[in-house]
Amino acid sequence: MIRKKLIAGNWKMNKTSSEAADLVSAIVAQVGKANDVDVVVCPPFTSVESVGQTLDGSSVKLGAQNMHPERNGAFTGEISAEMLRSIYVRYVILGHSERRALFGETDAFINQKVLSALKAELKPILCVGESLEEREAGSTLDVVKNQLEGGLVGVEESNATDVVIAYEPVWAIGTGKVATSEQAQEVHAFIRKLLGERFTPAIGNKVRILYGGSMKPGNAPELLAQADIDGGLIGGAALEARSFVQLVEAAQAAN
Ligand code: PEP
Repeated sequence: MIRKKLIAGNWKMNKTSSEAADLVSAIVAQVGKANDVDVVVCPPFTSVESVGQTLDGSSVKLGAQNMHPERNGAFTGEISAEMLRSIYVRYVILGHSERRALFGETDAFINQKVLSALKAELKPILCVGESLEEREAGSTLDVVKNQLEGGLVGVEESNATDVVIAYEPVWAIGTGKVATSEQAQEVHAFIRKLLGERFTPAIGNKVRILYGGSMKPGNAPELLAQADIDGGLIGGAALEARSFVQLVEAAQAAN
């Protein structure tokens, strides 16, 4: 197995602290000893620290949904990589399509975050993906290429394999419309080729590329069986322990 599969749950703006505690306890009870797949949960900031305490001693890793590139300062409402690192966060989702569309994040800004995350020894999950209009206009690969290259400016070969890419077609996020396994595999293979050119082919082969967009227990086995799909970034199905655990099991079965 060149690449260990990874299942990451993006809880978005859901779960109060006590709901988060219930969810993470159920996840730990069922997959807290899984070592053949990396499992990551990304709660909202209000429960990152408490969820991390529940994860202590389990194999499930802690993630965050966003961060600011600066180390500290007058950035009201923001959180830095160092702050996340100090509470044992290991992964951070960057450039999610909701951040790009609703909060105006550009590739250049996302790139600053990627560099700051790596400097603080956080693993960035860099999200890329086209809108429905872009797909229909035939520009999917161009959009993905620009977002990928823009997000990775200045990333050194020495920490390239700490980066995780998530291909998330915007039209499939939270819509129940999933990309077919062929559509997803085509873009994943393209991303891997670009990574091979940007770094080295060996690095391109090691970087994990997740699929995100209405991944559910029913469609996961086929997606996860594709040669270049190394796991999933999960929204809706990560909000219930049962479906999230089934996705982890689907990744285990795909090994
Ligand atoms: C996401 O927001 O990253 C996502 C993939 O959401 P969903 O699984 O709900 O489509």
